[in-house]
Amino acid sequence: MSEHNPGLRPWRDITRRKSRQIMVGDVAVGGDAPITVQTMTNTPTSDARATIDQIRRCEEAGADLIRVSCPDEESTAALRQIVRAARVPIIADIHFHYKRALEAADAGAACLRINPGNIGSAARVKEVVDAAKANGCAIRIGVNGGSLEKDLLEKYGEPCPDALVESALDHIKLLQDQDFHDYKVAVKASDVFLAVAAYMQLADAVDCPLHLGITEAGGLIGGTVRSAIGIGNLLWAGIGDTIRVSLSAEPEQEVRVGFDILKSLGLRTRGVRVVSCPSCARQGFDVIRTVQALEERLQHIRTPISLSVLGCVVNGPGEARETDIGITGGGNGKHMVYLSGVTDHHVQDAGMIDHIVSLVEAKAAEIEAAKLEGESSDAGKASAVAAE
Ligand code: SF4
Repeated sequence: MSEHNPGLRPWRDITRRKSRQIMVGDVAVGGDAPITVQTMTNTPTSDARATIDQIRRCEEAGADLIRVSCPDEESTAALRQIVRAARVPIIADIHFHYKRALEAADAGAACLRINPGNIGSAARVKEVVDAAKANGCAIRIGVNGGSLEKDLLEKYGEPCPDALVESALDHIKLLQDQDFHDYKVAVKASDVFLAVAAYMQLADAVDCPLHLGITEAGGLIGGTVRSAIGIGNLLWAGIGDTIRVSLSAEPEQEVRVGFDILKSLGLRTRGVRVVSCPSCARQGFDVIRTVQALEERLQHIRTPISLSVLGCVVNGPGEARETDIGITGGGNGKHMVYLSGVTDHHVQDAGMIDHIVSLVEAKAAEIEAAKLEGESSDAGKASAVAAE
């Protein structure tokens, strides 16, 4: 099926830009590492309990990396406990105060989000870089169209791709002058055209991993659309090593949208990819309510699986042929279930959602078992070869 057997489809290929790989904690970013999905907590970091609870929800949604703001000493004081409790590497977002960066590095942050040009003297930059080196922290430079340096705004008259890239290169130079190379860079803007043009320019100028984002993208629907256009365009062009979708919505929603963007481009596979129709008068069951319920109830599935839910036979059989599990609406409340693209059995309206959930869970267990079997047979062959 499409999730497991992409086949020879060159029109689907994306050739990724070759970036240098860095480590953020135990997560590789750049090179041939999977494109990671990030989000950021919005609880007061000083409230370690609330922040850890939110981190847990983001981890469940699949976040690879999670950023927390450290605007004050109370936040960096809570960071140690947060880092210990988190299952994914934590990035400490420092804006201007270099002391917070030193404290965050000491507290175990895997990465510091800090612009070295914003923290004052070269001595302070050196102190932060030394702390990053001593604690194995990466650094993320984050240029933002909304907070460009005054001199660049004067030089260029407005935020523009040249200005964003020049700002990024200035910050990069400060790190390189300290012989520090474990950095990744973002040049975000809320304007999709500006952000995409800046990232494209930067991608040609540097070899470090790029963190993609359309900043202040908006609410769940508008922000998802803008992010999908901006981030999606760049990923499609092969640019981008880690992404954060910035939404005025819960962080776990950002993670889900981030994965959906990557899944749409075949760059990551995680959980259930639902193919569903918008429904119309031909629908044999309530497609919208069914899909809403299934998306809610299948969030716990991490195994890549495709599921088609179509209201009638117009497009149902065709989509079902391409998915692991398919359901196509029929007459009199009786609907066809397809397994691995082939008609298998009927299901009635009553209990249909429970039935599909159990089919997906069973398919996930089957795929995981096959994966385990494959891994143990590979290990067996390897030890047989080693014994020869
Ligand atoms: S698949 Fe059938 S129910 Fe769904 S939109 Fe198309 S024609 Fe309508």
